[in-house]
Amino acid sequence: MSHWSQWLGLVALGVMAPGLGRAAGTGSLGVYWVDVEGGGATLIVTPAGESVLIDTGLDNPRDPARIARVAKDVARLTQIDHLVVTHFDIDHHGGAAELSKLIPIRRVYDPGDEIGQAEPMYVKYVAWRKTVPYTVLKAGDAMPLREAEGTARIGLTCLAAAQQFLAAGPEHKPNPIPASEAPEYPEDRSENRQSIVLLLRFGEFEFYDGADLTGRLEAKFALPVNLVGEVDIYQVTHHGLDISNNPVLVRSLAPTVTVMNNGERKGCGPKTRAALKATTSIQANYQLHKNLAPNADNTPDELIANLGPGADCKGNHIELHVAPDGAAHAAETVLLVAEAHVGQGGRLAVPCGRAARVGTRAPAPAADDTLGAARRAARVLSSAARVIILGVDVVAPFGGIAVHVHEAPGIGRHLPHGARGAASVVGEPGELA
Ligand SMILES: [Zn+2]
Repeated sequence: MSHWSQWLGLVALGVMAPGLGRAAGTGSLGVYWVDVEGGGATLIVTPAGESVLIDTGLDNPRDPARIARVAKDVARLTQIDHLVVTHFDIDHHGGAAELSKLIPIRRVYDPGDEIGQAEPMYVKYVAWRKTVPYTVLKAGDAMPLREAEGTARIGLTCLAAAQQFLAAGPEHKPNPIPASEAPEYPEDRSENRQSIVLLLRFGEFEFYDGADLTGRLEAKFALPVNLVGEVDIYQVTHHGLDISNNPVLVRSLAPTVTVMNNGERKGCGPKTRAALKATTSIQANYQLHKNLAPNADNTPDELIANLGPGADCKGNHIELHVAPDGAAHAAETVLLVAEAHVGQGGRLAVPCGRAARVGTRAPAPAADDTLGAARRAARVLSSAARVIILGVDVVAPFGGIAVHVHEAPGIGRHLPHGARGAASVVGEPGELA
């Protein structure tokens, strides 16, 4: 049976469609990792269409433009409602002032004041900060996000900021991982220690963004009690540098999928990669970039959004959608699309994780039927409960739309044993809603 007919068979199951594609205001949750070449820029769009941008990349024309493109053209936003600057390194706050010229930013949050010398870029950032409403974010704070009617509850909590951490309570369980398994890390005297750490919850779905917090401080989340619990998605901390990603924390979080916002010469550290490989819950590790250093230990190319060196880099982003399926079964479906490999000699996307390469390009349907096929495939997604689906953008000859059929790995602890996903849909963002 071809993959295409396999897909058609699943369509016949006939289930309700999740809110797929356009994230803004459609009831689904969207997360977009923008390629800012080893900086941070993670965009969250809530089911109510509210937006939270976490960090802004560097102070150059490229990064604000890439963020604005994803925000406006992909996520269909007209403004950034909340900007969180996690700490005062230029790969995080550098693009803020310039970005605000490309898309309005309504409020900014950060951990307070710089602890080091006032660098020129920090001075520029603070001058800009005075022009927008401003809040200092503290550990335990919840971001003020609107709920969307008929969807699961959403929450974005600050777990740490300025070296203050969420307090342990009776609900936090002792960590079975012994403290002796935590490596020694040097004391951190850098701005990284100030990092705001965020936990996004949508129904049962959880996403941990540790910014650039370093290993000694990360241990506070894991030992002696697990303060965070398990999550679905782990943004690999600090671009994948080995001074972060304490293996005890990574194992405690037990993520199913990781996304590393590394650069072609930044991140992807050997100890970080070892920590990810040793975490048995992980089914797929994504990278924004291939690390081009000799002997770099990259995740498989299929899971990398940008493979080529600087001049060839298209700045592809990685995108995730969590579609609610009613309040009782929130986050039933997760769709992760790596917009990648466009122009890589025609090489097409393949699915991720353990199901790698089970599918190839599906037979192309007639052009008129393509969008309809994509919509039907979208319906399939909600039939396979808690499935994570991964695919990659394909350009013409399919008129910008392609339906790519493959098996997909499940969201580990959420997926019934033995269950399998069905299909992924890739195409022009926004056309599948
Ligand atoms: Zn950084």
